[in-house]
Amino acid sequence: MNADIVTLKTHTKASSNSLNGVDRKKGKMYFVNSMSEYQAHFRCIDKDCSETYPVDEIIYRCRKCNNLLDVQHDMNMLAKKTPEKWRELFDSRYRKQSWPFGSGVWGKKEWVLPSIADENIVSMYEGCTNLFWAERFGKQVGVKDLWIKMCGNSHTGSFKDLGMTVLVSAVNQMISDNVSIPAVACASTGDTSAALAAYCASAGIPSIVFLPKNKVSIAQLIQPISNGALVLSLDTDFDGCMEMVQRITSEHNIYLANSINSLRIEGQKTVSIELCQQFDWEVPDWVIIPGGNLGNVSALGKGFLMMYELGIIKKLPRIVCAQAQNANPLYLSFLKGFKEFTPVKAKKTLANAIQIGNPVSINKAISILKQFEGIVEQASENELSHASAMADRTGTFNCPHTGVALAVFLKLLDRKVISTKEKIVVISTAHGLKFVEFKSGYHKSAIEGVSSELNNIPVELPNDYKTVRDAIQRRIPVQ
Ligand SMILES: *Cc1c(COP(=O)(O)O)cnc(C)c1O
Ligand SMILES: [Zn+2]
Repeated sequence: MNADIVTLKTHTKASSNSLNGVDRKKGKMYFVNSMSEYQAHFRCIDKDCSETYPVDEIIYRCRKCNNLLDVQHDMNMLAKKTPEKWRELFDSRYRKQSWPFGSGVWGKKEWVLPSIADENIVSMYEGCTNLFWAERFGKQVGVKDLWIKMCGNSHTGSFKDLGMTVLVSAVNQMISDNVSIPAVACASTGDTSAALAAYCASAGIPSIVFLPKNKVSIAQLIQPISNGALVLSLDTDFDGCMEMVQRITSEHNIYLANSINSLRIEGQKTVSIELCQQFDWEVPDWVIIPGGNLGNVSALGKGFLMMYELGIIKKLPRIVCAQAQNANPLYLSFLKGFKEFTPVKAKKTLANAIQIGNPVSINKAISILKQFEGIVEQASENELSHASAMADRTGTFNCPHTGVALAVFLKLLDRKVISTKEKIVVISTAHGLKFVEFKSGYHKSAIEGVSSELNNIPVELPNDYKTVRDAIQRRIPVQ
């Protein structure tokens, strides 16, 4: 169903009046009623329901059926520009300085959140991350066309920046429209909170992060602390934090920043647009992405579908969602042809950002995987550690979640599901520097159940010339 914009405007007024009892200042409703010719609204993902809501309303789930919402763009309007013109426009903005369009996300603003006023955008030039040709790693397994999309080379060190710029910008717009939002909150396995805290600090908006106590890395914990967020360390796991933040945000006017909030998906979906752009608009055969709460795999698919629908690309890749064996509810569902889904109690995994047993975006992810002839595969702690170390030996410094995706790549290659001739992109979700405990544990052979075959330990030596020379000779023959 395509709701028209006129009804949306009336809708906005009614709902924002009831919202937290706060009235909007008259005449400052440019968020929906904007100058942009492009429009978007929230739509319930349940096809039988398809209820729509204005995109500047504070709503996370459908009020009719409680399903997730999706941002639906006016595709007819977008289709008025030819594929060539879109490609030209996106290419002309890419990495340039004209604010905010040099951002990998806002360079695609018409496809992301068209009606937001530029001056309310909170951006740190997210996106535009390098696409690393994993030439040496690929060679070791006979693959020439292997690429790693380095989403962790970003402001807070993970792809979460892509979605958070959109969400915090939308909040900033609402605040400027006089909606009462005293703070933005999220539950997090680490990276979401880092992104939320940074973007909020940049805009001067208070943030609250709910973290599972002792389950995030020091680097992940120190980011929201440094950015001045209210950090709540709860004696539970991620799923417990998620329940708590949903309850708090539903009973108070605190804004919810988890990926249940589909505004984040709009930013994250630019990853697929950007990677096609980096291949001069060529589509890879496979994209492999680690999945926890499953927002990112849904976003990845959405970006491809939009490009396909608008004729910018002519084929779709196959998508592989890679899960940690210790937190594999989607994998278990995949084994049953997605006919059923049962949440699991996630066990501890080195890939802590995907230690999630009850993923919020499960329905979106399954729908995407079905459309992309998707595969779900899992990796054990040993497999993810080994794959991660193997890639590091060829120049990356990847995080354990990227390790999960790389391990799954190796498995599918081994099983000949993926052929050595194909073009493969692995999505690297965070910077390895956020996970130094994982790296050092591996190299010290200190992780239980992990064999550390590729460990590399520093050689401790006295300050003595001969001993130093001999130590070098033992490893590298020099003359
Ligand atoms: C959030 C996150 C993921 C998982 O993304 P989902 O959208 O929750 O599936 C994977 N890797 C890293 C590093 C993350 O921060
Ligand atoms: Zn609904």
